[in-house]
Amino acid sequence: MKLTILGCYAATPRTITNPTSQVLEIRNRMFLIDCAEGTQVQLRKNKLRFSKINHIFISHLHGDHFYGLIGLISTFMLLNRQTDLHVYGPKGIKEIILLQLRLGNSFTGYNLFFHELGSKESEVIYEDEKVLVKTIPLKHRIYTNGFLFQEKIGDRKLNIEAAKAHNIDTCYFQKIKNGKDITLDNGRVVPNAALTFDPLPAKSYAYCSDTMYDEAIIPIIQNADVLYHEATFLETEADKAAMTMHSTAKEAATIAQKSNVKQLLLGHYSTRYDTIEQFKTEAEVIFPNTLLADDGKVFEFD
Ligand SMILES: [Zn+2]
Ligand SMILES: [Zn+2]
Repeated sequence: MKLTILGCYAATPRTITNPTSQVLEIRNRMFLIDCAEGTQVQLRKNKLRFSKINHIFISHLHGDHFYGLIGLISTFMLLNRQTDLHVYGPKGIKEIILLQLRLGNSFTGYNLFFHELGSKESEVIYEDEKVLVKTIPLKHRIYTNGFLFQEKIGDRKLNIEAAKAHNIDTCYFQKIKNGKDITLDNGRVVPNAALTFDPLPAKSYAYCSDTMYDEAIIPIIQNADVLYHEATFLETEADKAAMTMHSTAKEAATIAQKSNVKQLLLGHYSTRYDTIEQFKTEAEVIFPNTLLADDGKVFEFD
């Protein structure tokens, strides 16, 4: 599971920082989470292949989370993309994008699917044989969802050496991968565990931005491997956090601690602060396993 932070600052883009967008690579899939202004440039800077992005998840319709979407959709068109593109986001996102395309007399040569969200309950919005994505309803000034990306537990891995040692024919290998025990010609049963390795552990990543402190998300993100939680402010600006429905670093850490996640990643910092180190200092008091997201940073979680 690999996470590339394209941008993780609140509100306005600056020469030194970018608003929110990130790429999660999980089980050979590449998911784009939020798509602020500048996302295309950041994708190029980080040498990520545009064409591998087939699913884009938009948390909410504040500009610092989706103003890069029409640009990316247009570029896909210019690059002569053929593959379907799926966009998941709040109700209204289809209207905004289609209006921009229509008034520009533009169209896409590929199929563009919108999956509009409106539920206040967590729901599964994407599923394939290896990965599942659920919404995390958040509390913000407008309708907002976070996203929980979960790997499914894979098949057990065949231990070829062990199979050979028991003289098992290759035609039984699929059976072994499916978890079956094997009966040898002499009638002896070789248990599946002796012929396989454990599957890779199933990882999970919870993305929560933007939101005020909200304990209602705890049951959804419980025990996640990594939690990205917004920390727009420090406790010194707790009043501003409450007013704008954002969180402080301390509040993000409290959610991490109460949900028993393994790792906390902070982001969505207000650009009023000169350094971001103080966010880590504030959060660590409550949740020691805290890391700071920053533009261009890559995190590998194995
Ligand atoms: Zn924001
Ligand atoms: Zn917002």
